[in-house]
Amino acid sequence: MDQNVHAVRRAQAEACMIRLEANQFETQYFDNSSDALSFLKKAIPADSTVGVGGSETLRQIHAIEWLENEPSLKFLDRYHAGNEEQVLRDSLTADVFLTSSNAVTMNGMLYNVDGRGNRIAALTFGPKKVYVLVGTNKIVSDIDAAVQRVKTIAAPANCMRLKRQTPCTKTGECMECSYDQTICSSYAVTRRSHIKNRICVIFINEELGF
Ligand code: SF4
Repeated sequence: MDQNVHAVRRAQAEACMIRLEANQFETQYFDNSSDALSFLKKAIPADSTVGVGGSETLRQIHAIEWLENEPSLKFLDRYHAGNEEQVLRDSLTADVFLTSSNAVTMNGMLYNVDGRGNRIAALTFGPKKVYVLVGTNKIVSDIDAAVQRVKTIAAPANCMRLKRQTPCTKTGECMECSYDQTICSSYAVTRRSHIKNRICVIFINEELGF
């Protein structure tokens, strides 16, 4: 990333963190994903059960690889489970849940769109601690911009990643479909962390996820 863009995005993240904290979110900022992963390794207590939401960001920062190979944690591994639905249900009562967010607004809110809704459900209630890892490319001005970001980037790109048969994989933008394979069934604004500091938003100043 260009150093001037990096500086701008750092300033945006810092401004965003003030608003997020006013909305009872815990926040962290790291210049790179390797420092963010080191933070997670120290922050999650041994013997914790850990669930994850579907996220390209978690793969890119090597969090999934770490969880698969970390003997001190009980990883609820949806990717190698015979019954993924059951693992997703179990993840709703995990000690810790890791996810990304489709967008974070400058006024300190999270915006997410889900197909099955497991990620939004865990973000809202269940796991004792939720870490939301986001590249600074996901910072947007407000909820309207977050909706646009999802319709023009996040959802079409995720549909392509998941090889879904949906209109956006052909057109590159949301066509408000109701196809069986849609990943857009539940829309959620997380305005605040209802329990103070239950949700921790971790900014990583890199281009991550969609
Ligand atoms: S609603 Fe359908 S067309 Fe729109 S982004 Fe979601 S899956 Fe794609």
